[in-house]
Amino acid sequence: MTDMGLVVVGAAGRMGQSLIRAIAETKGAKVVGAVEREGAGAVGRDAGELAGVGPLGVTITSDPLAAFAIADGVLDFTAPAATVAFAGYAAQARIAHVIGTTGCSAEQDEQIAAAARHATIVKSGNMSLGVNLLSVMVRQAAMALDAADFDIEVLEMHHRHKVDAPSGTALLLGKAAAEGRGVELDDNAVRVRDGHTGPRPAGAIGFATLRGGAVVGDHSVILAGPGETVTLSHHAADRGIFARGAVKAALWARGRKPGLYSMLDVLGLQAS
Ligand code: NAD
Repeated sequence: MTDMGLVVVGAAGRMGQSLIRAIAETKGAKVVGAVEREGAGAVGRDAGELAGVGPLGVTITSDPLAAFAIADGVLDFTAPAATVAFAGYAAQARIAHVIGTTGCSAEQDEQIAAAARHATIVKSGNMSLGVNLLSVMVRQAAMALDAADFDIEVLEMHHRHKVDAPSGTALLLGKAAAEGRGVELDDNAVRVRDGHTGPRPAGAIGFATLRGGAVVGDHSVILAGPGETVTLSHHAADRGIFARGAVKAALWARGRKPGLYSMLDVLGLQAS
């Protein structure tokens, strides 16, 4: 098979540059396009030069349609509104769409699911092997430890530039805990606490958010019971783990039938 041609949207972003580096070092994949916002300073520059891997002969453009027309897949770590638009273009072009963007509203998630009727989409709040494995362990721990005895709290820290909270990963881990308990996260999540909150509601899944410095992503799921606490944690030292996961997802998605898949599908970790 020929190399899979990938477009990176948000090519000048923190993840965009990491994605270009990951594609450059992956056998079977190549960068065929790079897209940035209209008016972004990086438009017109060589995508490889910007990402520090030397010239790739791919000029960053603000025209996604032209870039998608010559690609087999798109890697998208941008912003929710942009991702919804890209899902429509990717479906039209019949190419795989790997979505790492977090902070989508319920309505935006519905629009992405609608696009997945015609396109192969892999979407995950975290593309790393470690966090997806952690989510399986969290689901198992939540299933094993009785909700009447064990309180679940999800703690996360990210760099100062992050714009959404709780992180997509914290929500992914909270969802895994809710699944383990056989409940809906939305019915049980306590995302913010301030002032006189009263006692902790039974069965709540709590979230706490820290922001600062250059932290790539730290997550802990704490199951606090009578006389003992279980803590399951992940530390991301480098964005490369997300980028390599996204490239792996694109290669996995190539030629697969339309649908909305997750990293658990890609990694073969999906509960049966
Ligand atoms: P960033 O701000 O550094 O990069 C985003 C880039 O997208 C910017 O360069 C911006 O100009 C570009 N962009 C925005 N709208 C665009 C448009 N319409 N067309 C083209 N480009 C556009 O942010 P980041 O730290 O790289 O994170 C990006 C997203 O990825 C966030 O939602 C973040 O939470 C998420 N993220 C997900 C994972 C994961 O594994 N799923 C890991 C890390 C980050």
